[in-house]
Amino acid sequence: MTTTSADVIVVGAGPAGSTAATVLARAGIDVLVLEKTEFPREKVCGDGLTPRAVKSLVDLGIDTTSANGFVRNRGLRIIGGGMRLELPWPELATYPDYGLVRPRLDFDDLLATTARKAGARLQTSTNVTGPVLDAAGRVVGVTAKVGPDKREQTFTAPLVIAADGVSARLALALGINKRDDRPMGVAVRRYYTSPRTHDDMLESWLELRSDNGDLLPGYGWVFGVGDGTSNVGLGLLNTTKAWQETDYRKLLQRWVGGMPEEWQYREEFATGPIRGAALPMGFNRQPHYTRGVMLVGDAAGAVNPFNGEGIAYAMESGVLAAEVAVRALARPEGPVREQALHAYPDAMKSAYGGYYTLGRVFVQLIGNPRVMQLATRHGLPHPLLMKFTLKLLANLTDPRGGDVLDRVINGLTKVVPAA
Ligand SMILES: Cc1cc2nc3c(=O)[nH]c(=O)nc-3n(C[C@H](O)[C@H](O)[C@H](O)COP(=O)(O)OP(=O)(O)OC[C@H]3O[C@@H](n4cnc5c(N)ncnc54)[C@H](O)[C@@H]3O)c2cc1C
Repeated sequence: MTTTSADVIVVGAGPAGSTAATVLARAGIDVLVLEKTEFPREKVCGDGLTPRAVKSLVDLGIDTTSANGFVRNRGLRIIGGGMRLELPWPELATYPDYGLVRPRLDFDDLLATTARKAGARLQTSTNVTGPVLDAAGRVVGVTAKVGPDKREQTFTAPLVIAADGVSARLALALGINKRDDRPMGVAVRRYYTSPRTHDDMLESWLELRSDNGDLLPGYGWVFGVGDGTSNVGLGLLNTTKAWQETDYRKLLQRWVGGMPEEWQYREEFATGPIRGAALPMGFNRQPHYTRGVMLVGDAAGAVNPFNGEGIAYAMESGVLAAEVAVRALARPEGPVREQALHAYPDAMKSAYGGYYTLGRVFVQLIGNPRVMQLATRHGLPHPLLMKFTLKLLANLTDPRGGDVLDRVINGLTKVVPAA
């Protein structure tokens, strides 16, 4: 059995892993990314990028223009309570005033290529099967099955970043289970060829109803992909009994069946099957650092409970982990390096802990159909309230300065405990 070594092993080349690898490689670290699939490959997603995700792309030096395959949007269109409301993305110092849509089929390929160009070694068709432990129980590498013949291979490194997505196989192998006191979502989506493919707003439908007509905690989306198709999907939270009882595929079909014929969200215009996956939210897997392994992105349960957005948080946690890793690896192996590595969970808590605590309250509230009803019926007609809601749900505020809405949201996230 062959053994390959690196300074850092990153497991998974989704947005979290590729971003961490890019930052590490640019800092001169020898980083090896192990990815079980081959690019380009599909990933079930809404393909929507808010200004928060755009900032992460810009920070990596990625060209976000249409010449590089991105489709821009100006804001969010909300449909509910008999209303249709268009809210432009806020004008902020910290975030751009536009969002993007880009199919994950080549978005993830682009991020992995960025990591490779920065100097990271990327090894695809490599399915990581478990950690390699030293005598003290610290992770010093991983085992994997490589290529079509599933050849066993060992990879060693003083630090491993688990970016393996919602399956969180590496974390599970270390006994880091998901917390049941944190929200979980399920989302499904399908592509349809549609005249709405060039829509310049992300569209969100707030009224999804169960078979007996109850409002469900979640929303549907229609995102123009710009390539002749729309990405149409819906996501629900696990805060009601409907979570287990809902047939998500049927719900999607029923919901789009009520839309105008000419939009073409009908069976004959679908370009593929309905596909779905879980959304791990509000830090549902912790600790984010233990025994030589950092968890990032979905593996860390980093999806925003307010809106189900995961790409921005995957990329941001990738940056946070990489920055801590660079500092830690500059120290000698042992307790002083370990001390530096423990800065990562602290950085995650201070960046999102308070906000995610508020998110959990929000998720509980909208689990009550009456609250959902009140919010859609009475909230939507108030422009200032909706501006506030957009900033809160999309986590788009200036951390310093900003307007009064920013200060209220930032203040709230600071007074609640980060957990
Ligand atoms: C239906 C749906 C719609 C969504 N819509 C949006 C949206 O519009 N906008 C948004 O921001 N977020 C959305 N999300 C959430 C978003 O998709 C995730 O939060 C995001 O992909 C997380 O990135 P990640 O890098 O942590 O994990 P992933 O993107 O899941 O990447 C993990 C990578 O690890 C690899 N891997 C897994 N196991 C192993 C292993 N054992 N060995 C080697 N490699 C492995 C996988 O192949 C994959 O490449 C949606 C999710 C769903 C399910």
